Amino acid sequence: MNGLSIEWLTTSAPQTICMKTRFACLWSLVLCLSVTGSFAQIDTAKPRVIMIGAHPDDCDINAGGTAALFASMGYAVKFLSLTNGDAGHQNEKGPKLAARRLAEAQEAAKRLGITYDVLNNHDGELLPSLEVRLQVIRKIREWQADIVFSSRPNDYHPDHRYAGILVQDAAYMVAVPNIDPETPALKKNPVFLYFQDRFQHPNPFQPDIAIDISSVFDQKINALDAHESQVYEWLPWIGHYLDQVPKNKSDRKIWLSQSRSIVITPEVKSMLVKWYGRERAEVVKHAEAFQICEYGAQPSNDEVRKLFPMLKSN
Ligand SMILES: [Zn+2]
Repeated sequence: MNGLSIEWLTTSAPQTICMKTRFACLWSLVLCLSVTGSFAQIDTAKPRVIMIGAHPDDCDINAGGTAALFASMGYAVKFLSLTNGDAGHQNEKGPKLAARRLAEAQEAAKRLGITYDVLNNHDGELLPSLEVRLQVIRKIREWQADIVFSSRPNDYHPDHRYAGILVQDAAYMVAVPNIDPETPALKKNPVFLYFQDRFQHPNPFQPDIAIDISSVFDQKINALDAHESQVYEWLPWIGHYLDQVPKNKSDRKIWLSQSRSIVITPEVKSMLVKWYGRERAEVVKHAEAFQICEYGAQPSNDEVRKLFPMLKSN
């Protein structure tokens, strides 16, 4: 894959697909795939969103509902996986597994109406190196991102921890012109946000924003369903609940919907009340919450409402 970059790009018309293959890519060892769905016409005047995970399902799991809402409003949304997922299976591995996961990410992107890029770094071996930091900086700059999401550096999986470190290390530097001068620096530091997690040490997740994703929860589940190798095979195997996965396709999706329903914590509930009002907050079935990172732009409440126009009480 050295020196090869492949992009699949779809226009706003669902039937129109053009594929371009580009050799002599400046990024060695990077395989880049993009898929744009067609849920809404992309509005270039709206803030641009990039979500960055360690693996080709992390963003979907943590923020697939928020991504679907942004996409439905015409926002340009990209998911970026920092590894190719080539270690995440009990029976498969290497390039064959990476290719399978790339295809799954491609399908999930279609179902969410977003683009999905997968970097060709090995799964389970992600390190907070200067090389990967520069990959992250380039991706954020090339996307002209206004909002960047990623994991916190507190997590059970080292790839998740280092994804959090790498994105934190890219904050501020994305606006420094002398860092990787071939990729024009952003005019301003974006807003950086952390995905929600359950880890308590050295400090627990503290939500600043909570998004009601009830209206797009089925769409999120449909995107997760595309990651078959993970949600129906690897994660149940490593979690010792493989025997609970239904064999039938429609039963599997119902099971997925039930098992991926996240309990709304009191802290998240208080943020739903803050942003939507108590009446609406009481009827929210599914939510995704985010914490504002101190290293990016610090938005006021009014600026948060401009960036997240779905935050309204009715
Ligand atoms: Zn992961």
